[in-house]
Amino acid sequence: MTDTQRPKTDVEVEIFDGVRAPDGSSPVEPVRLKGQDRFNFSCHRGVSCWNACCHGADVTLSPYDILRLCRNLGLRPREFLERYTVPAVWERADLPVAKLKMGGDDGTGPCAFVTEDGCTVYEDRPATCRYYPLGLATVKMKGHQTVEDFHFLVKEAHCRGHDEDHRQSIDQFRAEQGVEAYDRVNRGWMDILMKMTSWRTVGGPFGRDLAPPTRKMFYMVSTDVDALRRFVFETRFLDIYEIDPDVVDRLKTDDEALLALGFDWLKNVLFNERTITMKEAVLHDAVAKAREDMGAT
Ligand code: SF4
Ligand code: SF4
Repeated sequence: MTDTQRPKTDVEVEIFDGVRAPDGSSPVEPVRLKGQDRFNFSCHRGVSCWNACCHGADVTLSPYDILRLCRNLGLRPREFLERYTVPAVWERADLPVAKLKMGGDDGTGPCAFVTEDGCTVYEDRPATCRYYPLGLATVKMKGHQTVEDFHFLVKEAHCRGHDEDHRQSIDQFRAEQGVEAYDRVNRGWMDILMKMTSWRTVGGPFGRDLAPPTRKMFYMVSTDVDALRRFVFETRFLDIYEIDPDVVDRLKTDDEALLALGFDWLKNVLFNERTITMKEAVLHDAVAKAREDMGAT
């Protein structure tokens, strides 16, 4: 049975990051595309719609997007967030995220990085911009532990790139766009979005609103490596969790390693996953305190 034929009832949870037309309709072609599937598309300065997609774009920024853009612009995350993003909610998981700010009072104007010659941060443009005109969907089937990624073709009326005579496979397009590093570094974050969506779908404990401090922590890990580093090194974090000394050393300068730890910590806090280990003595004290609170001897 192919993926496109698989009954919808086998799907436990599916998250899709793509675009919607202003009238709410979806320009997504309902065919799941895998690596060797081919499609027709080319974007270059000669297309009549050049830069059209960089106006009023709906770009949710992943943690790695922010890291790369900060490096490109020589900004610290806080300054980048203030200048170039707006706070938003990633609705299916009801989690706070940052989106790229678009110009104009109603957000339909140009992206801050677009010029006549194209994108000024092209080498470090966000994953959503790289993937376009593909949407990325992550699906977890019932009874399966692992998730699968698929692509869908997004055909918006204004985009003439689909009329160009250039055929390529999904794998070729992904390699040209350099999305692999984005998928790799963001994997833990995507897992969290996926799990939260799943919890909400089945009415689990997170079907209710997350407590504001937890939302704040998720946003901090997702957007600001400086704040995350302060959290790790300037609070009791390292007294509480068992982290290998070599890793601790690396966390001082390696932002990608710090993000991976942040995602593991969120998974532990949100879903009680054993992604990070509490120190034996801390655990012992916590159990003793819980027993005392319950009046046990
Ligand atoms: S970051 Fe670059 S590619 Fe993405 S919307 Fe802005 S100008 Fe366009
Ligand atoms: S609308 Fe499509 S073809 Fe036109 S510039 Fe954007 S991606 Fe390229």
